[in-house]
Formats: sequence, C-alpha cells, structure tokens
Amino acid sequence: MAVTRTFSIIKPDATRRNLTGAVTKMLEEAGLRVVASKRIHMSREQAEGFYAVHKERPFFGELVEFMISGPVVVQVLEGEDAVKRNRDVMGATNPKDAAEGTIRKAFAESIEANSVHGSDSEENAAIEIAFFFKPEEIVG
Ligand code: UDP
Repeated sequence: MAVTRTFSIIKPDATRRNLTGAVTKMLEEAGLRVVASKRIHMSREQAEGFYAVHKERPFFGELVEFMISGPVVVQVLEGEDAVKRNRDVMGATNPKDAAEGTIRKAFAESIEANSVHGSDSEENAAIEIAFFFKPEEIVG
C-alpha cells in the first residue's frame, strides 16, 4: 500500500473544547503522521470557497457560519492509504451513525458540528491541501 497524503480540519466545535490534542492523538494512533499543521480563523471567502461543492445544499449557509465561528486547525496527514485511513477513524458524518472508536463518535456534537473534516478522495485531497498550504509548509 502506497504512502499518500490527505487533508484534515479540526473544526471550531473541537478547538473550542480544547480537543486539538485529543483529536490529533486519535489520528496518530490510526497510523497517520501530521506533516503540516496550522491554526487559522477562516475568512468567509475561504469557507465558501472550500465548501463550494456544497453551495446548492440546504445546509451550506449554516455550515459556512459554523466554520468561521472560531479557529480551526488545518493539517496535512501522511500514511499508508491516508484518505481511507482518515475517513475510517473520523467516522460517519452524523455522530448518531458513527462507530465506536471513531473521532466523531467520541467528540462530535451534531451532524454539523462534527469535529473533523477529511478529504473523500486523493484527487480532492490534493486540491484541498493546495487550498491551504504552500509546498514548502509540508515537511514529510
Ligand atoms: N453537514 C451538515 N448537514 C448535513 C450534512 C453535512 O451540516 O446534513 C456538514 C457537516 O459539517 C459535514 C459537512 O457538511 O461534515 C460536509 O458534508 P459531507 O456530506 O461532505 O460529509 P463529510 O465528508 O464531512 O463526512
């Protein structure tokens, strides 16, 4: 299995509850390595751009408000089959459906405030990484 990269966000509900370390520990224990990380407060333009694929969905406006409601930690994660590995440890979008042992089961407050984002494909991972990081900010 090839070593690949994915993109992660620790969302405002998790930074507000001081869970950056706890979430990162679960990512690391899942076999992922943090090769870039920064804490930022997204602008409205950044949040709208990042979630542009969801702009026709009914929850888009509220999702953007939530994502700019506090700081987030954007990360690049590296590991074997990183996209799937991250999706597995994140758990289902709705914490009610998330399996035991996943980040969303442990920490998510709701389907919206669900603690983490993770790329859903290698193609999207590359796009999302480039949205927030310059190549020299990633140290493998
Ligand atoms: N979301 C929401 N309401 C919904 C579905 C999704 O607020 O009914 C939010 C939630 O924060 C989710 C994000 O929109 O993480 C992106 O949705 P997606 O379906 O891509 O889920 P994910 O890939 O994050 O599990």
